[in-house]
Amino acid sequence: MDELEDLYQEVILDHYKRPRNFGVLESPDRLVEGNNPLCGDRLHVSVKMKGDTIEDVRFKGAGCAISVASASIMTDAVKGRPRAQFDDMFEKFHAMVTGTGAAVDGKLAAFAGVSEFPVRVKCASLAWHTLKAALEGKSETISTE
Ligand code: ZN
Repeated sequence: MDELEDLYQEVILDHYKRPRNFGVLESPDRLVEGNNPLCGDRLHVSVKMKGDTIEDVRFKGAGCAISVASASIMTDAVKGRPRAQFDDMFEKFHAMVTGTGAAVDGKLAAFAGVSEFPVRVKCASLAWHTLKAALEGKSETISTE
């Protein structure tokens, strides 16, 4: 169990120090900003769609290790996926971090431990809520509060 926790810790730190898909897309189809005032996490997500598929996605911003690593791992996980699959992943991820669902596959599982720290749930799901709003065509800043 400890080994597993260490591994997850490593995954989160790796993505925090070297975030993937960091930056802003040139002429994105959608760009939404997300804030988590509780922790001070702020990021924005830009998306390029191809039909119903997330062709490319990037994020930029600053926040705690959990929020940045979550955005990094999420963008990796959803790039090239149809929107319906994102919705499904979002639901499973949210259930996992709120402790109402099983752990999900892959690197996203690194956030399973978040369910023990309710205050961190908003950090872990900020990027997801922001991308969801972008896919729904919203353009205003979203807030976890
Ligand atoms: Zn945070």
